[in-house]
Amino acid sequence: MKQISEICPKEKCTGCQACVNICNKDAIKIDRDELGFSYPFIDPAVCVNCGLCGSVCPNNSDLPFNLPLKAIIANASDEAEQKTSTSGGLASVFARHIISCHGVVYGCSGADGKNVKHIRVESEAELLFLKGSKYVQSEIGETYRLAKHDLQAKRLVLFIGTPCQVAGLKSFLGQECENLYTIDFVCHGVPSQQLLNDHISQYVTPRDSYSISFRKKNVRGHSHYGVFVSPSSQTETIAGRYPDDYYITGFLQGLFYRESCYDCHYARKERVTDITLGDYWDRENNCKTLKNRKYGLSMLMVNTAKGQFLFKNCQHFIDYQPGELNDFIKRNAQLARPIAKHIHYDNFKKEYLTKGFKDAAQKYLANDIKMIKRSLLISRISTIIYKLPFMKVFYKKLLANIGILKSK
Ligand SMILES: Cc1cc2nc3c(=O)[nH]c(=O)nc-3n(C[C@H](O)[C@H](O)[C@H](O)COP(=O)(O)OP(=O)(O)OC[C@H]3O[C@@H](n4cnc5c(N)ncnc54)[C@H](O)[C@@H]3O)c2cc1C
Repeated sequence: MKQISEICPKEKCTGCQACVNICNKDAIKIDRDELGFSYPFIDPAVCVNCGLCGSVCPNNSDLPFNLPLKAIIANASDEAEQKTSTSGGLASVFARHIISCHGVVYGCSGADGKNVKHIRVESEAELLFLKGSKYVQSEIGETYRLAKHDLQAKRLVLFIGTPCQVAGLKSFLGQECENLYTIDFVCHGVPSQQLLNDHISQYVTPRDSYSISFRKKNVRGHSHYGVFVSPSSQTETIAGRYPDDYYITGFLQGLFYRESCYDCHYARKERVTDITLGDYWDRENNCKTLKNRKYGLSMLMVNTAKGQFLFKNCQHFIDYQPGELNDFIKRNAQLARPIAKHIHYDNFKKEYLTKGFKDAAQKYLANDIKMIKRSLLISRISTIIYKLPFMKVFYKKLLANIGILKSK
């Protein structure tokens, strides 16, 4: 067995599988590490030493990065699109447009939670499978090959994925394709399917049929992070909410991502895609001009002329106002740097291997959960205090006095 190091250093491998897709001898196989992350290895019995797997790896090539041309705060004009999406519903707006032009969309499916993977979609009905962020690594499978086939057949193609997956596709294609549009999102990092399966095994068995989501919006439009499992045999959803749910809190705190996520080459403001999406939490109520913003707002970065063309063609289905790139970076640290490795990453790993997911996560997230709860409480109390009528007057007077002091 030849090692992954013949393709790229293991700690840098994002699992994009460009090497698997490029090998026409199918000599690259996938292995899983103890946490369930996939890594390629070369089968020497089949390998003809052509070197394609190494040269296609985005870690060994210089893909062009683009500084965004425009920063926009936006969401889908259609409230139902916002409601059924994780953030502002823009990914669905762009995907719908491509389908309406008889194009093909590649994105991540897996609402059943067991098998999160990229699929090819050709009809409006199938777009439903792509909706929603799945906070777990999606398997690319053979989708780069299929996309290449579609592009060669002169179909319009939209590929949506993590920045490293889009980099994998571009590296695999090896040339700029006029008919290809790409969208990524600001990415925290990805846990493995194995870790997610271990977590939800406390609620359901692998033989059960269920669906899963990671964010729920209530009737007032407030979005809650969690792991929401809906078994088909029950009307009730089993909800593990942030911060009590170990998977979602471990995800947001960076306790168990893929090794490469902690040194992510794509966690920066320059992007490899035409359009980048992310959450925009309008806590300051900056977006009053957007009339329809109950169920979510997104940051939208238009990175290329192609992105601009796609945005222009979808403009009728989007409400938007100008934003600022520096403001986006302030709100979303992964536009500047990768997330830091959790101090207990190694401890979690050791404990997971001996005691399993629940015990390991419980032990190493206990402190985080306590701190998060404390800060949530403080923020709730200050919101209530600030809403009291006399507090507003007091606050305004305080600000005015500060102004007077400053002018003196
Ligand atoms: C693992 C992960 C980490 C993220 N981290 C951040 C973050 O730190 N900050 C931030 O602002 N936003 C983050 N997001 C993006 C955010 O959750 C929204 O997806 C984004 O704002 C677009 O929202 P939407 O309503 O337009 O589309 P959504 O309804 O969220 O659809 C998103 C699209 O992304 C694709 N997708 C979903 N899950 C995956 C996956 N696991 N792998 C690859 N593609 C996927 C689907 O194909 C779909 O078309 C993350 C998303 C994921 C999946």
